[in-house]
Amino acid sequence: MDSTVNPTATICHDDPAIGDSERLWRLVGTVADPAVPGGMRPESGSLRDERMSVNRAKLSTLEETLSLQPDREIAEFTAASVRELGLRVYADPCYVCRRCGRHLGGEPMTCLGCNSDERIYHNRAHAIVCPAMSRSDARKFAKEKTELVEITREARESARRLQ
Ligand SMILES: [Zn+2]
Repeated sequence: MDSTVNPTATICHDDPAIGDSERLWRLVGTVADPAVPGGMRPESGSLRDERMSVNRAKLSTLEETLSLQPDREIAEFTAASVRELGLRVYADPCYVCRRCGRHLGGEPMTCLGCNSDERIYHNRAHAIVCPAMSRSDARKFAKEKTELVEITREARESARRLQ
């Protein structure tokens, strides 16, 4: 059976093929927080989607992930850390529009957001964390379980060129 047409594939579930130690990357906004090393942390509102898009670090590169939203930062956390909150994580390879960032489905198509058909690429690293974190869990998670990935100016520039 073709998993791309299996409706259960989009139901919130946990995929044991994603190991606890796998690192996940999430594009986030940041806020100042003097209590954390470096003084900045992800804003918790960036971590509260009902179906939170992340990239599996081992299947992506910093530039590739950042190219989706080159002005944001990247929060890194492990699959274990979201499972500890009772959340689930599953692989969801999908097509993404580099021009506007919209996540499309498992089939190549023209972007529904900006009509681009030239800037669509297949993001095999895409995964979903679900369901949404509570507000208080998200704040604690942002402070204690995430690290901001260091992004050099060169990496950011090459992400913009990919876009
Ligand atoms: Zn688009």
